[in-house]
Amino acid sequence: MAFFSTRYNLGSVMSQNQIQAGSSVESLCKRCKTVTDHHVVVMDKGRIAKVECKICLARHAYQSPSAEVKIKQPAAPKAPRTTSPSRKQSASVEAQWEKSVADAGSLVPYSMAASFRAGDVMDHPVFGLGAVQKFVSFNTVEVLFRDGLKNLRCAPRK
Ligand SMILES: [Zn+2]
Repeated sequence: MAFFSTRYNLGSVMSQNQIQAGSSVESLCKRCKTVTDHHVVVMDKGRIAKVECKICLARHAYQSPSAEVKIKQPAAPKAPRTTSPSRKQSASVEAQWEKSVADAGSLVPYSMAASFRAGDVMDHPVFGLGAVQKFVSFNTVEVLFRDGLKNLRCAPRK
């Protein structure tokens, strides 16, 4: 027994001395964007140096699960041009709306006398751009606006 060895074993090494290469640990995975189970790949002086994610098999530096909060917050507003990340339900409507409007060939200014067809994009003075979905009656179209679906009067279907 060495006289001084016990000093080295106290402190930082103590908490991880059960872990070795091949052990399972929880680590933050940047690819999975959450805390997942990892295999330890490389140990360095009693600390976990490199891990492999069991979910996506990515190898990366060990990141303590407690770092999750710091990483998750900037990762959340990932969608391009997200103005209101808090409203999840409207976000999907908005995404659908953006796609419909982006696909539009030309804009038709809205008026009750204008005639529309499914697939047209109208420019409404109040609601903004809207993608015409379908006729819900002979003179009413269902239109997807950023706020959601609305029924609008228009010229009778031809
Ligand atoms: Zn992963």
